[in-house]
Amino acid sequence: MSGDRLTVTPIGVGAAYARTGEVQSSYLVRAGRTTLCLDLGAGALNALQAHVAPHDVDVYVISHRHPDHCVDVLPLHVYMYWGPGRGSRARLITPHGVQERLRALGSDTGWDEALGFELVGDGDLLQVGDAQLRFAAVPHVDETLAVRIERAGRALVYGADCAASDALVALAAGADVLVAECGDGPVPNALSPHMSGGEAGEIARRAGVRHLLLTHCFPEHDRDATLALARDACPSAVVEWAVQGREYIVG
Ligand SMILES: [Zn+2]
Repeated sequence: MSGDRLTVTPIGVGAAYARTGEVQSSYLVRAGRTTLCLDLGAGALNALQAHVAPHDVDVYVISHRHPDHCVDVLPLHVYMYWGPGRGSRARLITPHGVQERLRALGSDTGWDEALGFELVGDGDLLQVGDAQLRFAAVPHVDETLAVRIERAGRALVYGADCAASDALVALAAGADVLVAECGDGPVPNALSPHMSGGEAGEIARRAGVRHLLLTHCFPEHDRDATLALARDACPSAVVEWAVQGREYIVG
């Protein structure tokens, strides 16, 4: 069973500033015997340890350079170089611009010994242990990469932060689960492009997704109204807010 499993556990569902009790963006994925962590926002490294030791994660995938998706790489560096992870090296897969921003804030001591960065881009395919990964650039901030993870005929797609786009529809085509950020309200959406609930639902409907997990909702946004709009746009799928710490089986 563990050889074929594909699951996603939201570690953090909070936005760029979050509700009380929310951790910022992070998702633990188990694909067969392979463990992946998608994004590592504020508080994620602490919360992740309820599920897995950070040095047992096979790969960290960072979607883009916004701090709410990557800032806990800084404590990961400390953990890997001076803490329980010493002697091993975390593998991080990122688009351009992530390492440079983090390195400017962190300590140079042990950076390269503790953290191994690899660049990926739009359209790249990667095999990581039992998981197949495919990346697609999505409209948010340069560069932002959504990722599709497949294992044993099932597919999970993480949309990162993004505006509605044909690129996300194509990446999510036929996926069992799509994790999509959304919220309805004017204030934070003026900063970088994000999706409304209706747009997230429309993406899932066009892609033929079976299960839509909504996430990354700013505190000003009405979660009930956003959920209702997403469900109206995609009546064929299960549509719900992602819950921190809950494991969802993909497929
Ligand atoms: Zn962002």
